[in-house]
Amino acid sequence: MIYNEDFETLPREALEALQLKRLRQVTERVYHTVAFYRRAFDEAGVKPDDIRSLTDLRRLPFTTKKDLQDNYPFGLFAVPMSSIVRLHASSGTTGRATVVGYTKRDIDTWSELMARCFVAASVTKNDIIHNAYGYGLFTGGLGVHYGAERLGASVIPISGGNTKRQIMILQDFGPTVICCTPSYALNLAEQGRSMGVDMEALKLRVGVFGAEPWSDTMRQQIEASLNITALNIYGLSEIMGPGVAMECLEGREGMHIFEDHFLVETIDPVSGEVLPPGEQGELVFTTLTKEAFPLIRYRTRDISRLFAAPCRCGRTLYRMDRVMGRSDDMLIIRGVNVFPSQIEAVLMGIEGLEPHYQLIVDRAGTLDTLEVQVEVTESLFANADEVKVLQRLDRRITKDLKDYLGITAKVKLVEPKSLQRSEGKISRVIDRRKI
Ligand code: ADP
Ligand code: ZN
Repeated sequence: MIYNEDFETLPREALEALQLKRLRQVTERVYHTVAFYRRAFDEAGVKPDDIRSLTDLRRLPFTTKKDLQDNYPFGLFAVPMSSIVRLHASSGTTGRATVVGYTKRDIDTWSELMARCFVAASVTKNDIIHNAYGYGLFTGGLGVHYGAERLGASVIPISGGNTKRQIMILQDFGPTVICCTPSYALNLAEQGRSMGVDMEALKLRVGVFGAEPWSDTMRQQIEASLNITALNIYGLSEIMGPGVAMECLEGREGMHIFEDHFLVETIDPVSGEVLPPGEQGELVFTTLTKEAFPLIRYRTRDISRLFAAPCRCGRTLYRMDRVMGRSDDMLIIRGVNVFPSQIEAVLMGIEGLEPHYQLIVDRAGTLDTLEVQVEVTESLFANADEVKVLQRLDRRITKDLKDYLGITAKVKLVEPKSLQRSEGKISRVIDRRKI
């Protein structure tokens, strides 16, 4: 199912022509309305008129998170405050929050793109959507909410937290769709089970999960524990919020990027060089239609890669791979680069472990050290000759981390339910180096 057939299935040539037209419009507009861009373009020696093809995009300078912070809170807005109808801020996972603004038309676009996401997940107006993304400054809650309303589905604006109540509502209201972070989905499943609720028997059939990195093995865990199909959704406040890209039910391999509104590139995070599709790098987005807060070549720091291959679903939009992590989440353990999501994938592949883990980075002398804390299953923990079993498991994890990722880590097996659970975006890494 496709929400906006006209734009989601445009032949690439027509899509690129549309992108170029819009790119020329947005560069022209920011040059004349945002002092920051005028200066940046002038410094780079480029004028809006120089943009004659999509590859000319490369002549434009990057915009970084630091540029946003330097212009905090409203310095990069391209419209007067009287045209702004909504403000949001990034959840501030890394550093100072960035503030984003929307015009009425921006909200309208966002609602449509979120509606496209739902339709890609087979959601219709007959569905009831349990929306456990946080409502408030965070874009997750309201972004999803407006998309669900645009579609005409029934929304339960439950927001985050208050897990016991959520479980009651899941039983009583019988939602068919759930939206939240993947870590919170697992938390819900687990708490429900411990309350004696048969979580697999709920009416839920599909989940739209995002806002944090998760592995494919984590997807299987969620699907099994809630008896649903779990789909990945990507977005970031700076570019819009949730709904920048969404997995389709038919493909389930990468998320379609709504390229009629966002121009995407992958770059080498060190050299800034543009990479061809298929190669892993940092995602860079240019907004093509945003009015209030247009961004030119915004460096997301999210590491992924693009797929140009056509998809079964009929959408012509390129797809992006699941995000490995942010370049600033990358750990360097004795010279080996590793993302928390890669460690997650290794852990999830080992029987006897729960999908709950925490990574502790510290420093011994000049070397960074990593401790992997992971919960073991209830049954294993209750086992009589526990010690031997646990020792074997410990060795297996240490070996797998070495074999698959090349890292040496200290493993600490912990009791079931002892690590902190997520109520929204989870933070996997505790960095003791900074303390
Ligand atoms: P903050 O930057 O403070 O976390 P946002 O709420 O804007 O604020 O978060 C956007 C970020 O969340 C993205 O840049 C990305 O790192 C992460 N993210 C969003 N969706 C996904 C996803 N499906 N998979 C992995 N990471 C995601
Ligand atoms: Zn598809």
